[in-house]
Amino acid sequence: MPIGERMDFVVLDVLQGLGTFAGFYDKDDVLVATMILDLGTERFRKDDPFPAVDEVARVLRTMKPQPTVNAVLLSHSDTDHINLLGLLLSRFQPAGTPGVPVEDTLQVLFCKYAGARANFTKRGRNVLDTLKPYMPQDGTERIVGSASPETTFKGAYNKKTNPWIPVAQVAGASVYVLIANAAPSSAAIVTSSNKPKPAVPDTYGKNMVSIVSIVDYGASQLVVTGDATGITLAACNTVIQTAGVEGDLLIDNFMVTAPHHGSETTTYDMLGITTDFKTHDQLAEENLAQFVRHMSAVTLSASAGQVKKFRHPSARVIQAFWPKLGTALYQDPVLPEGLHFYTAYFTAGQYRVNVPNTPPTPGMSQVEWPVSANWWSVQTDKNIFSNLYFLSGSQGEANLPPAPGSRVGLVGLPTAVPPLGANWTFRVPRGLGVKRSVLRSDNRVTTLALRAQALGVRPETLGAAASPLSATPRAYPPAGVDRAAEPALSARAPAAGLAAGRAAAPPSRPAAAIRGLRVIP
Ligand SMILES: [Zn+2]
Repeated sequence: MPIGERMDFVVLDVLQGLGTFAGFYDKDDVLVATMILDLGTERFRKDDPFPAVDEVARVLRTMKPQPTVNAVLLSHSDTDHINLLGLLLSRFQPAGTPGVPVEDTLQVLFCKYAGARANFTKRGRNVLDTLKPYMPQDGTERIVGSASPETTFKGAYNKKTNPWIPVAQVAGASVYVLIANAAPSSAAIVTSSNKPKPAVPDTYGKNMVSIVSIVDYGASQLVVTGDATGITLAACNTVIQTAGVEGDLLIDNFMVTAPHHGSETTTYDMLGITTDFKTHDQLAEENLAQFVRHMSAVTLSASAGQVKKFRHPSARVIQAFWPKLGTALYQDPVLPEGLHFYTAYFTAGQYRVNVPNTPPTPGMSQVEWPVSANWWSVQTDKNIFSNLYFLSGSQGEANLPPAPGSRVGLVGLPTAVPPLGANWTFRVPRGLGVKRSVLRSDNRVTTLALRAQALGVRPETLGAAASPLSATPRAYPPAGVDRAAEPALSARAPAAGLAAGRAAAPPSRPAAAIRGLRVIP
């Protein structure tokens, strides 16, 4: 297999779910290999648009001579991680189908999954069975489950006696399993005097088994956590400490995905474990902090949609990653000074911020922010990249995290409306000392909807030309489909100012309206 000169690792905007696609390019910018780590939702739609699937299919069709997915990892069986794989396959015929042009066929060389194989059956179809005809029929078992538990790192690395063998190698990238099929007993924190509740709830259990994988490419690593729960993270911490993974592999972590879409409820759920000295919540907090330290990732990626009952990604979980994140890898063209947006679910009054008093009163006052629990878009120079990118009407309220002792988080409203949804590409060239970058491509379908809302028109009236990702763009969301359970953006209250008696700001404040905000550390 050709060795890539560059990996583009794309975290796709799939709404509430996770879909990542890695393309490996040679020095002439030719796509030589690909990899998929989870590919699910676009939130239960039954019809177009599927911009994430269309984009992956489009890129695969550029691959000569044979569109190929070299490896697929399915972290676990939940629909929001697997349903789009079947859809992607249906865009192609299996490789070797007589009479079909080769660019319309696809081959898949390897698949690894965690959890019970039977759980991958949805509506009577098992996606692993659907996958099989796309694989070479050469007697090799190419669809592989995981041991319970499984890790690549069974003890300290030793070149001769204990080499760490990746589960897949693609164009110079090695994929390792940090943990798969974790159970409470996989975590050192669980001892006989320190036990979780006897029964693991079914939904928790299905997430707990998630593969946490490490992709090692060039001199960088990327970590995909699936829907890891508190127990899964504890198991990761145990493996990392036992085998010395930090010193021998996780040396320069470029990206980690927020566990379980940044879910506050499961990330901080340790199934009721307490110790003689610590409450469950203290333990959970320390568990995540330890995971963050082990990861030491420069960037955090959070794939989630706006689903009321989930409240992903949680601002609290994102904050847990702040201490290790770098800054300014991506600047939104509508913002100054290396800033961009991220959108998360904040609880009411989660932060205290300084705001300038209304003239003629001098000085600053401290207020609680935000005024209500909801998704809010904030500006940041930290490397936090949420696929739910920018909510019109809730923006510009704070600058997080604060730059210690420096700029008083000046917040300028953007001059153009950024997209609601964005794909993030984590670009890793091979070799030491090379410059890595983060690129944004707008999910044009969601942009279209946002623009339509701003103009107060039906999205269809904005025309087909606006969507390069889909040959037949449709209204987004299509009438009667999807997002029904989510707060309609247009129905949101306008950004409610900063409380403390201030009048709500009009939704379209002039760009000149700049307010200084600073979060009290
Ligand atoms: Zn999920």
